[in-house]
Amino acid sequence: MAGTILLETKNLSKRFGGLKALDRFDFLVRHGEIVGLIGPNGSGKTTFFHVVTGILKAASGTVMFGERREVLTALPPHRITALGIARTFQRQRLFNQMTVLQNVLVGAHCRTCSGLFGSILRTPATRREQKVVQEKATRLLALFGERLLPRAQDPAWTLSYANRRRLEIARALAADPLLLLLDEPAAGMNPTETRELMRDILSIREQGITIVLIEHDMTVVRGICDQVVALDHGIKIAEGSFEEVRNHPSVIEAYLGRRAKHA
Ligand code: ADP
Ligand code: MG
Repeated sequence: MAGTILLETKNLSKRFGGLKALDRFDFLVRHGEIVGLIGPNGSGKTTFFHVVTGILKAASGTVMFGERREVLTALPPHRITALGIARTFQRQRLFNQMTVLQNVLVGAHCRTCSGLFGSILRTPATRREQKVVQEKATRLLALFGERLLPRAQDPAWTLSYANRRRLEIARALAADPLLLLLDEPAAGMNPTETRELMRDILSIREQGITIVLIEHDMTVVRGICDQVVALDHGIKIAEGSFEEVRNHPSVIEAYLGRRAKHA
């Protein structure tokens, strides 16, 4: 499996009115990789995740996924989740009043079989399934050491900022993804939390999950990404190792240009 193509996009474009948020974007991730997606604010990174997960429809181009190179471009989001792509959001979307454990259970919903009647009648099959799913959710919380598991029964709103971000990752993992898309997971974290996050992401990869990581913190990108792709105005301006991309004239120009404009 390692080394084979898991996700590939060709000529992917997305427009918002006159604005090209993605412009003929070719992107490729192989099994077992951690690929970093960087670029200044507004360069189209989050839009890329929206298009891959079916939240937004591409204007043109294709997204292919898995060994059978299934075309995702025409599929609704729940089908894409079922095929094995899960994500976190740049802005958190937790259910605040639900417990930490319940938030993870929501993520597992797409993998459970019992429908509404099973849940209401609490048939033996449903109870068995619920037990299995609860065990899985507990296992996922345990991935984050002592951060989440002792708080499993607390409402999500009581969590610290960093723990909320960890919970979002746990919830995404509950969908049993082959590919995990993380949108700025280190944003707002202090250096210690960031280091811990890097270890967490590496251990998720150890479990055979491939990762695309949008991240502004270059320590994280340098530390854990095998490949890096840079976007600017929806256009791929560089790809390769961290060093290659970071030192690429177009990348330097893209970041400096924005800074100069905002100064
Ligand atoms: P990034 O994640 O790289 O910061 P985004 O993908 O969020 O960038 O945005 C890319 C561009 O598309 C930006 O110029 C942004 O303002 C624009 N954009 C994003 N979402 C929408 C939307 N729903 N409607 C209109 N414009 C949008
Ligand atoms: Mg974004």
